[in-house]
Amino acid sequence: MKIQIGVIGAGTMGNGIAHIFAQNGYPVTLVDINPDFLEKGLSSISKNMDRQINKKLISESDKLQFMGLISTNTKLDSLQSCGLVIEAVTENFEIKTKIFSTLDKICNKETILASNTSSISITKIGAQTSRPDKVIGMHFMNPVPVMKLVEIIRGHLTTDETTHKVVEISKNLNKTPVECNDYPGFIANRILMPMINEAIFCKMEGVAKTEAIDQIMKLGMAHPMGPLTLADLIGLDVCLAIMEVLHKELGDSKYRPCPLLKKMVDAGTLGRKTGKGFYKY
Ligand code: NAD
Repeated sequence: MKIQIGVIGAGTMGNGIAHIFAQNGYPVTLVDINPDFLEKGLSSISKNMDRQINKKLISESDKLQFMGLISTNTKLDSLQSCGLVIEAVTENFEIKTKIFSTLDKICNKETILASNTSSISITKIGAQTSRPDKVIGMHFMNPVPVMKLVEIIRGHLTTDETTHKVVEISKNLNKTPVECNDYPGFIANRILMPMINEAIFCKMEGVAKTEAIDQIMKLGMAHPMGPLTLADLIGLDVCLAIMEVLHKELGDSKYRPCPLLKKMVDAGTLGRKTGKGFYKY
């Protein structure tokens, strides 16, 4: 019997994380603040599984079985008996730390608490709990069902035992876990996000059109998608939140978020999830 998994946040990442755990036989409780968000998350999972059926990766009966492993709830209390809880809510320090201190009171002493944060300190999140040894970063990539990497981030007090368990679970999901230490943006976003930010500066300064910026990086650097297409996929609000963490925590002006990125977030044009970003969807 596989351990019960809790996933908090049914947005872009949370629904993908619930999807792959269910697809690999883990029972999942998916939590969000509002039943409408849960409904939307389940509908995304269903559509993404239909895509897998069309590609003959899974069958109709697999889909029924996987969907049956996912239950939804609006209360954190429902995660009490989970062996592993993965938080994937909005990239905001206050929201995340409140969730971790609540989980610490609710969950069994042995439960591992993981965050899918893109940039926020795992050490600081762990410090909100009485079990910093069992708090770890499990940074999945978008789209979760497709991307192989899980960046595993050890907080200052995360133990080898916790890391080992999370590495094994990631392998059970057919993912490739790669370990790194806790530092702003870790590895993936420390390198990726300044590139995306620079692409937005190029757009703002009129160096090239959106499509041209993307095409130059695709054809010239063999990137599978251009940086502005990728920003739309990630969500511009998420990109801005990560740049703000890099800027604040590393204290170097080279990480200042591009004013155009800020303006687009203020305008609510966040990329794919709102139907408009650098492109229309
Ligand atoms: P999103 O905006 O698509 O979804 C966030 C979800 O969290 C929403 O459904 C929201 O209702 C829910 N939420 C907010 N506060 C909550 C609370 N207190 N309790 C329960 N649910 C709550 O965001 P996302 O893109 O899925 O990002 C989630 C996390 O994953 C962030 O930390 C982000 O940095 C990280 N991440 C994002 C990407 C990406 O490409 N978007 C990639 C890797 C990691």
